[in-house]
Amino acid sequence: MYRTHTCGELRLQHKGQQVTLAGWVQRVRKLGGMTFIDLRDRYGVTQLAVTEDSPDTVKQTAGALGREFVIQVAGAVIERSNKNPKIPTGEVEITVARLDVLNAADTPPFTIEDESDGGEELRARFRYLDLRRAPLQNALKLRHRMAQEVRSYLDSQRFLEIETPFLIKSTPEGARDFVVPSRMNPGEFYALPQSPQTFKQLLMVAGYDRYFQIVRCFRDEDLRADRQPEFTQIDCEMAFVEREDILQAFEGLAKHLFRSVLGREFTQPFPRMSYADAIRQYGSDKPDIRFDMRLHELTGLVKGKNFAVFDTAEYVGGICVPGAGGYTRKQLDELSEWVKRPQIGARGLVYIRLAEDGIKSSVDKFYTPEALQQIAATLNASQGDLMLLLSGNRKKTQEALGTLRIEMGNRLGLRKNDEFAPLWVYDFPLLEWDEETQRFYAMHHPFTSPKPEDLQKFYSADKADVAQVNANAYDFVLNGTEIGGGSIRIHDANVQQRMFEILGFSKEEAEYKFGFIIHAFRYGAPPHGGIAFGFDRWCALFGGQETIRDYIAFPKNNAGRDVMLNAPAKIDDIQLKELQLTASI
Ligand code: ASP
Repeated sequence: MYRTHTCGELRLQHKGQQVTLAGWVQRVRKLGGMTFIDLRDRYGVTQLAVTEDSPDTVKQTAGALGREFVIQVAGAVIERSNKNPKIPTGEVEITVARLDVLNAADTPPFTIEDESDGGEELRARFRYLDLRRAPLQNALKLRHRMAQEVRSYLDSQRFLEIETPFLIKSTPEGARDFVVPSRMNPGEFYALPQSPQTFKQLLMVAGYDRYFQIVRCFRDEDLRADRQPEFTQIDCEMAFVEREDILQAFEGLAKHLFRSVLGREFTQPFPRMSYADAIRQYGSDKPDIRFDMRLHELTGLVKGKNFAVFDTAEYVGGICVPGAGGYTRKQLDELSEWVKRPQIGARGLVYIRLAEDGIKSSVDKFYTPEALQQIAATLNASQGDLMLLLSGNRKKTQEALGTLRIEMGNRLGLRKNDEFAPLWVYDFPLLEWDEETQRFYAMHHPFTSPKPEDLQKFYSADKADVAQVNANAYDFVLNGTEIGGGSIRIHDANVQQRMFEILGFSKEEAEYKFGFIIHAFRYGAPPHGGIAFGFDRWCALFGGQETIRDYIAFPKNNAGRDVMLNAPAKIDDIQLKELQLTASI
């Protein structure tokens, strides 16, 4: 037997027992004639003591140990004289009677401790060593717990877990496909699924009225910060449902996860907000409602005072930053520069301070103290607050204010990662017009149904009408991050065909690409809808972390590379020829 206990298990109650442990050498400390070894496994760390009285062979072996050696030890559990209250095994140690090296180790390229000295790139190259560190082990344990709880909850709600293929034909979710050449069908390619969207809908047609899958999805996107080309979704679909049924079902799942994984009880229904309200009040379709600081429109109020910037703007709006009235000139200048960064794109920042010495602003030349007080009243400002105003094109300015709001929330410490504010956002626009390509794109995906009351506009020949159609779609937002999105689907073949027409597909193209699903809708498709959650991100949020990488055992870097495998990589000529990907040789 390699071990009688794990390295996280022994306590005072085991005192006097003979035990055998196996694990990795975390640290060796020599103190006089004694050697202390921290032995680590995934369960914890236990201290081993080699004393003057230990057998000579043990002393010799202990003297030659290096970090990360894999060893097995046997000995008695004794009470430590110098206890370590920081670890659960800190009251005991093992006096080593036998010590065997199971495998020696090269010196690791970085320290394997909670705070490692290794840079990101180096740790990624030696991911299996990084994964030995407790923070990563805890992240993967949390992920495991989440997956188990998702399964057990959805199973209890009669959902069936059904796998769908990875080698498929393109499913459009707005990104590029990863493609796989087919050797047996030269010149043809599979696509890896961006999501199992069409399959889950076909499962509804097939009568499996509650489906889920914890499934890998692949999207060939330019990697923005903290995106992975392959990521995991909790993918779900239900038949014979309306939006309300879906929201209820998955609010149930979310509450179960909060309770079982984090021990948090949400007794009230989650708040809900329309897309239009979210943009108007928060300048974002994924508002962080852990803090208030809402946007207020000031357009009507501020015009006509000869301040050209506001007079010519389509929209003027502001936020009130509580308690920031004491910001110094330098801080305000820095903020003014900050809003001009390309990511925010504002042209300038107007501020108003409600300080002890009265109301002051960067536009005192144009606005009387009374006019400024009116603005302050609209923004619900009180003594000691700072108001920040932006102006310009309505949508862009609202978004810029939304970004500024988040920044101020961060600066004021209002976005605490152990506080959770879930939110449903619904009634998104169905389509987005793209100026460059002069065509509509589906905001969610082409299988999302228009709201029934907008069907007439959906069939209108006038693009302006079509642009106004709302989707029967919803997002699940947690702390300002969209972690779930879904919709009630189109289940009528004619409506689906009209959707493809709006998206600029010819009948033939639609038939070639999506014939299978249009046909399926002609064979008794029930009304259906669903949702998918970003599993990696949900885990990271529950773990109180910003980055999803720690919650994925073997992630890719920002350039989409696996630096441990050094993938992607070239393939040899024979393989290329077999796949008919090259004419040469
Ligand atoms: N397939 C969608 C997505 O990946 C989710 C859904 O509509 O269920 O975003």
